[in-house]
Amino acid sequence: MKYIADFRDGELAKGIAAAIRREARPEQRYAFMEFCGGHTHAISRYGVADLLPPQVRMIHGPGCPVCVLPIGRIDQVIQLALAQGVTVCTYADTLRVPASGGLSMLKARAQGADIRMVYSAADALALAQREPARQVVFFAIGFETTTPPTALVIRRAAELGLTNFSVLCCHVLTPAAITAILDSPEVKTLGTVPLDGFVGPAHVSTVIGSRPYMPFAAAYRKPVVIAGFEPLDVMQAILMLVRQVNDGRTEVENEFTRAVTETGNLKAQALVEEVFCHRTEFEWRGLGMVPDSALAIRPAYAAFDAEARYGLSYTPVPDHKSCDCGTILRGLKTPVDCKLFGTVCTPETPMGSCMVSSEGACAAHYTYGRFRDIPVVAA
Ligand code: SF4
Repeated sequence: MKYIADFRDGELAKGIAAAIRREARPEQRYAFMEFCGGHTHAISRYGVADLLPPQVRMIHGPGCPVCVLPIGRIDQVIQLALAQGVTVCTYADTLRVPASGGLSMLKARAQGADIRMVYSAADALALAQREPARQVVFFAIGFETTTPPTALVIRRAAELGLTNFSVLCCHVLTPAAITAILDSPEVKTLGTVPLDGFVGPAHVSTVIGSRPYMPFAAAYRKPVVIAGFEPLDVMQAILMLVRQVNDGRTEVENEFTRAVTETGNLKAQALVEEVFCHRTEFEWRGLGMVPDSALAIRPAYAAFDAEARYGLSYTPVPDHKSCDCGTILRGLKTPVDCKLFGTVCTPETPMGSCMVSSEGACAAHYTYGRFRDIPVVAA
């Protein structure tokens, strides 16, 4: 198959669904976490969960970059824009994530903060080059997929000798998050989140390769199947996971062979290694402080580190008390368990981060799945 339409073929989907139903043993439990928001989106959009037998259950994971950004980081960048008068640039969805005091970056802009949406890190760098009198800060978020472009602009800014460009680095690391989930009491001791395997990230894995998942697959005895973001990719990955569970295997397999290799993109990895180092810990929404789970800018590039330049310190802020994003991101609850879902909280009026991005579990379920929850009344 070469084209996207092939990976959305209904007849092929029926065939894979039939294989899953045939091979999933009735007495066996198969609880798989799709780590990525892209997979959550595909599962909701194409109704993949409806094709699975009852013993095969999908659990949403924390792999949506906007969703895992804690309130404290949004507050930090809003304060930077309001108090220091810098121009903050970031990706679109980030602007709508609720922060403290009823604010978001978008609402802070209405209060006079110079906060702009960009399509890429390169756009922020170009703005700094165009307007040398303006201090430009790029608010860099995301997993390993968006990290290399940020590294590239930092290195380019150094080559150009720019003095009006810096980066507030909030890039996070996937394997550390998966390990944190596996170490959580809900999975490890309480058993409230049953986990029998992972659908592994697509785009992240194009950069880091399949190898980084091998240590925890072996140590925690959990199979991983890396999958693309199309519905047939996800379904094939689920079938491969069912087969691993049946065989008692805990391997890292790669369904997304058209884009992912074992070693990943070595050039991108070298660039990231040159510019970034690991933070000792970083707060994730839902997961709390996770050791060794995020990146900071190396001292050699400290001139472009907004945290160093503006003397920023970090203060954790609790989530809105009625928002269940934290428990949804840990796999403990689903969007419909939240009493604000679809009433107070909608994509137009998000109360939590999971309703902001199309990759967020709440937004995906609101857009594609909420009518499935309404019982059909016979006429
Ligand atoms: S529905 Fe809204 S308030 Fe509830 S968990 Fe999702 S984002 Fe948070």
